[in-house]
Amino acid sequence: MDADSYQIGLENFDTKTREASNLDQISFWNEEAKKLTWFDQWTKTLEWNIPFAKWFVGGKINASYNTLDVHQTSIAKKPAIIWEGENGATRTITYTDLYHDVCKFANVLKSLDVKKGDRVTIYLPMIPELPVAMLACARIGAIHTVVFSGFSATSLRDRIDDSKSKVIVTADVGYRRGNSMNLKKIIDDAINELSFVEHVIVLKRTEESLQLNAKDKIWHELMTNSPDECEPEHLESTHPLFILYTSGTTGKPKGVLHGTGGYLTHLNSTFQWAFDIKDSDIFFCTADIGWVTGHSYVVYGPLLHGATEIMYEGVPDYPNTSRIWDIIQKHGVTIFYTTPTALRMFMKFGDSIPNSFKLSSLRLLGTVGEPINPKVWRWYFNIIGKSKCPIIDTWWQTETGGMILSPLPGLETIPLKPGSATKPIPGVDVAVVDEEGNELPTDTKGYLVIRKPWPGMLLTLWKDDKKYKDVYWSKFENNYYPGDYAIKDSDGYFWLLGRADDILKVAGHRIGTAELESNLVSHESIAESAVCGIPDEIKGEVIIAFVVLKQNTKKSEDVLRAELIQTIRNGIGPIATPQQIYFVTKLPKTRSGKIMRRVLKAIASKEKVGDVSTLEDGAAVKDVQDTFAKLQKSIKNNKS
Ligand code: ATP
Ligand code: MG
Repeated sequence: MDADSYQIGLENFDTKTREASNLDQISFWNEEAKKLTWFDQWTKTLEWNIPFAKWFVGGKINASYNTLDVHQTSIAKKPAIIWEGENGATRTITYTDLYHDVCKFANVLKSLDVKKGDRVTIYLPMIPELPVAMLACARIGAIHTVVFSGFSATSLRDRIDDSKSKVIVTADVGYRRGNSMNLKKIIDDAINELSFVEHVIVLKRTEESLQLNAKDKIWHELMTNSPDECEPEHLESTHPLFILYTSGTTGKPKGVLHGTGGYLTHLNSTFQWAFDIKDSDIFFCTADIGWVTGHSYVVYGPLLHGATEIMYEGVPDYPNTSRIWDIIQKHGVTIFYTTPTALRMFMKFGDSIPNSFKLSSLRLLGTVGEPINPKVWRWYFNIIGKSKCPIIDTWWQTETGGMILSPLPGLETIPLKPGSATKPIPGVDVAVVDEEGNELPTDTKGYLVIRKPWPGMLLTLWKDDKKYKDVYWSKFENNYYPGDYAIKDSDGYFWLLGRADDILKVAGHRIGTAELESNLVSHESIAESAVCGIPDEIKGEVIIAFVVLKQNTKKSEDVLRAELIQTIRNGIGPIATPQQIYFVTKLPKTRSGKIMRRVLKAIASKEKVGDVSTLEDGAAVKDVQDTFAKLQKSIKNNKS
């Protein structure tokens, strides 16, 4: 395992926070919660009825009050959101603008009889009206459920039907890769048979005339005469703030339900600790608000802190591969938070692209979503951060609400190890355990668990307490099971090895997908890789690898295949030698950019592919299938 250490730019030495959290986890969070503004103080910090946690019981709070009202005297004219469209258009929204827009839209929702606890589905692209609609729901106690605007009518219908939303908020169009997508038409198809939907609010972004149905209302018309002040509801700390469906990497998405007081406390603290946020920062998180990273670190985290942030509508490689570096240079971005999958793509395009931009404003880099391969980490550190920016590799999930494992430059100094999410944040208890739930010695692979409740944790799965218990609390008694495989090294650093469901069991050895994939990606010609295991009579399971080559790779597949096998043998050992290596142009990924290994496994085992509604690009499955079939055929021919 990699023992390199990097300690650049870390200069905070707050030992008190860690000490307090070690002393008493509950009192620790009790103090952290006081950093927010509450209408009524809570009477009990935590009520823990395994597996249901209630944080700050009796406390009254409002998320929109804490992100907007509290800034109206101090930083009213400060930009909250600097928005950039795919076509280069920009808009700047100050904290005052945002406050009034949110109040107006909250009044609109009220006028449509939306009440505390009602659900509102928001199906909008990455435009400022998306956080406006979310915060307006929060202001009146309605539960928002944002659906990524790239989803089809069927996926959308499932989510609207599950949450039984009374109101839908959408736009006529969204833009992606230069194309305009007719969102209104998708909504019409989705709600066709859903009689419980009462109103559809449509934001018009174009001059095109719109076919209006009985339920449709136009955003601007509703907003024109709506009052720009709206009293925030005083909500119980445990009042649900939102339902968000998981990315669906492993199967059918789960409707994760989050509360208010605990969630906000978790975000308020982690945003400060991880990003070391300063008044002068320009924060840029590339996540779509349709995913949890967007909820927590585009909407709630930065706005709680009165930060200025960039919001970009569009894909990172359109109209060309330098788009993101162009945005960073143009707006002087200081903190950049993205995903390993995006970084691997940038890396594939070559160093000369970022090297031709002035990226010197950057001071802190972050990543989330998948294990980051050490090679990609170093590239990020050297080429993007110019060896002066710390990288925070943040491990967390939709269910955890906020970060659980991450370096925290805003709090303390920690030497970084490329590929490790380092250590737990203060106030959480994380361990690696065996099949029986016993903590494993260091340097031993096992299951990641969280042993105590934490403030950002989900309340439950929407209308499905049973599934909530089954999925997260049944594998290990009294421990939350995230479904990830990990190792803790002798320095106490955590290394995420992939999903526990994807572990390969070869000749008695357990190998995490991340170990193998990082090894393959360490080869100079490989941009991306994914591995899976398929059943084998003798070995139990054999490894199948799929790789995507970097642009301009000259070597033949046969040469590369031999080199890759050598790379694996040297890096992991002969037992990990893949039985087959397939060269593909694309890997099947979720809309949030994560590799769907179960799809690869199904193809390689000649089984049904299953639910792929969250798949990014159907063509990827076909590509893998074709490559697979071609190779199988040539193997057969050689044998005969
Ligand atoms: P589903 O639960 O429907 O399969 P999902 O798990 O992809 O979807 P998310 O909640 O967006 O939905 O993703 C959380 C998962 O992403 C984690 O459980 C982990 O597997 C992976 N992950 C996130 N951050 C990291 C990280 N820094 N290092 C390694 N893995 C990460
Ligand atoms: Mg998950």
